[in-house]
Amino acid sequence: MRCLICGNFTFKTLCNPCFQTITIQPKVRDLGNFKVYSFYDYQEIQFLLHAKYQIIGSKIYHLLSKKACLFLKQTLKSPLKAYGIGIDDKISKQGYAHNAIFLKHFKKLGIIPLYHTLLAQDSVSYAGKDLKFRQNNPRNFYLMRNITHKKIILFDDLITTGLTLKEAQKLLAEKGAEVLMAFVLSDAKY
Ligand SMILES: [Zn+2]
Repeated sequence: MRCLICGNFTFKTLCNPCFQTITIQPKVRDLGNFKVYSFYDYQEIQFLLHAKYQIIGSKIYHLLSKKACLFLKQTLKSPLKAYGIGIDDKISKQGYAHNAIFLKHFKKLGIIPLYHTLLAQDSVSYAGKDLKFRQNNPRNFYLMRNITHKKIILFDDLITTGLTLKEAQKLLAEKGAEVLMAFVLSDAKY
């Protein structure tokens, strides 16, 4: 196949030199009740994240998640003892759940994944929509299992307004869980 960035022939989705050029640029956003840690510059990986609407997206998400996880492993002093929940990690029509791929990699850091736990009733797409649209169209999350007394880390590919993560945290807190933090691949606001 051809590298998605340079077009050179490669056995992978991105050739090694191109993959190396995508650097980790850690950022933190404070949402009040919890912090959101992101790994990549949005401008740099925006086009790669769009691959989630294609079959090839699963490979891209594996590569980006793996690299993010390796970075975190080097900076962490001890394993993260928490459960991980991916935002609305339903299998898409492309045959995978991108947030489940992201979450899966973090098992290496001690996180216990709770797949298919926090699903959205309204699968309205937020892509390219403004804050007002997002406020008027909440995700209306529901839970597929009991999470009472659990310490949770949330996983989503992107943060833009932060409304989705706030809505998720609010529901989990109401159900007796504690959201420690969230990991996202990229912060689109910066
Ligand atoms: Zn390349």
